[in-house]
Amino acid sequence: MIKDELARLITDGYNALGELGFAESSTGYRLYHWADRNSLNQARIYRSPKDAREIAKYDSSGAYRPLKGVPNLPRGWVLELPNINDLKTALDFFYPGAVATWLAFREGKAQPVCLRQTLNRQTGMYRVTGKLTDDQAQSLVKEACRSDSRCLRTILWGIEADHPPDFLPASKSDPTVDQTGQSRTTLPFLCLEACNLLVAAARTTVKKSSR
Ligand code: SF4
Repeated sequence: MIKDELARLITDGYNALGELGFAESSTGYRLYHWADRNSLNQARIYRSPKDAREIAKYDSSGAYRPLKGVPNLPRGWVLELPNINDLKTALDFFYPGAVATWLAFREGKAQPVCLRQTLNRQTGMYRVTGKLTDDQAQSLVKEACRSDSRCLRTILWGIEADHPPDFLPASKSDPTVDQTGQSRTTLPFLCLEACNLLVAAARTTVKKSSR
């Protein structure tokens, strides 16, 4: 069970995922924004994992967060959760499927899908993304997925099948690297396939270049 493995990982010292920090507490588990870890006594307390869904929805300026991997989670909250099940649920609201994806990849049950495969199976208005050139793809991914401002996931897919993403900085495709740059004992936060937002950006790139 994923929750049992998550509990074991926390016992082993893992205490972060993306912008989040978590720890066992006297009443269960505590989940918070990593940047607030030294000021949790000033944070607003929530007690339901469903509160995570609302917290993750908007950034601190009130803007909707369509891509959950963007490093712009609001601060000033702490979730006090009674059990590992609720912690797992809350983590999924912040970073959908992140823990399950890593565990599946680690066990060889999930594999990266190259960008070409993702783009070539698009239909309708996104079919045109199949025309994205390799150079365009590399430039697009370097900018749209950069960890310092766009997305904290670690990219394991390349442009073509069986090619590693060697056009990216090595750190961006290394699951052992903390993408926030803080060298924490963090759970890997993987990207095994280009997301819908990147596909949409690929469409924009192709459209612009064909004008
Ligand atoms: S393709 Fe992956 S790394 Fe890039 S923005 Fe989407 S989820 Fe993040």
